[in-house]
Amino acid sequence: MKIAIYRNDNEHSINIAEALTSKILAVPDANIEFDQENPDIVISVGGDGTLLSAFHEYDAQLDSVRFIGVHTGHLGFYADWQDFELDELVDSLTHDSKEYVEYPILQADLYFSGSVKQTIYALNEVVIKRSFGTLSAEVLINDNYFERFKGDGLSIATPSGSTAYNKAIGGAVVSPNLDAMQLTEIGSINNRVFRTLGSPVILSDHDVVTIKSPDAMDSSVQIAFDTLHFVTKNLEKIDFKIAPTKIRFAKYRHMNFWHRIQTSFIGPEEK
Ligand code: NAP
Ligand code: MN
Repeated sequence: MKIAIYRNDNEHSINIAEALTSKILAVPDANIEFDQENPDIVISVGGDGTLLSAFHEYDAQLDSVRFIGVHTGHLGFYADWQDFELDELVDSLTHDSKEYVEYPILQADLYFSGSVKQTIYALNEVVIKRSFGTLSAEVLINDNYFERFKGDGLSIATPSGSTAYNKAIGGAVVSPNLDAMQLTEIGSINNRVFRTLGSPVILSDHDVVTIKSPDAMDSSVQIAFDTLHFVTKNLEKIDFKIAPTKIRFAKYRHMNFWHRIQTSFIGPEEK
């Protein structure tokens, strides 16, 4: 089994990554080697943000890679191992059953003038905004006109990303067992010209959401996806759909999504 360790530059993460490496090397006959290029398992050490970066580092190898997240702060959503559980993690690696859980990811196809196409993937969400002022955009669902948006921006989130930015802008929390994507408005203006549904929309893996913005043609729009972003123009449209490939997480123990939501956002019941 080939392992890559991907960490952030925080001092504690550096120490935890080193401790993990030593513990793996200390296992006799473990049949584990380190390979940053073509790993079977990527262990992210840091926060959920670090796992998002690890996903983008290995997003061309999703069919062969399984991810594990070790959180060096609190318990995370993707990073659901904690820094005091390294022995248990090493034990799980040496008894690896090759099992995994899969979560859907988002695919955005960006079409620029001059027939230039770019595809990006997101584990949490893609957000389109303008650097200054409001964004105007036409939203189409399956090539049919849906609504005309004016406001701060639009977010399209995955189910596992639904607890991140999407939740802060009023989106619903969605089970990652559903092959779904969620379109959420950010600060929409509603009047006679610009009229939007106003509530988040959850779409299936048969649906394509298209965003066409005149601002994306002449002025610069920001495309933020997970921990990454760029500013662009000459962008004719973006098509969003659920990607054909999913992200896989090594399944060494039962991690219940709703339990994680409960402990992260609500906490123990007051008696
Ligand atoms: P960050 O500013 O450190 O992240 C914001 C927070 O979101 C961090 O606490 C991060 O956890 C957490 N987070 C990341 N993915 C999550 C998920 N799927 N469910 C619940 N919480 C999640 O930036 P970052 O670490 O680079 O993460 C990028 C993400 O931040 C973006 O994809 C976006 O979703 C989110 N974000 C949220 C807001 C907002 O809520 N207003 C605004 C901008 C961006 P860790 O501390 O473990 O990294
Ligand atoms: Mn972070």
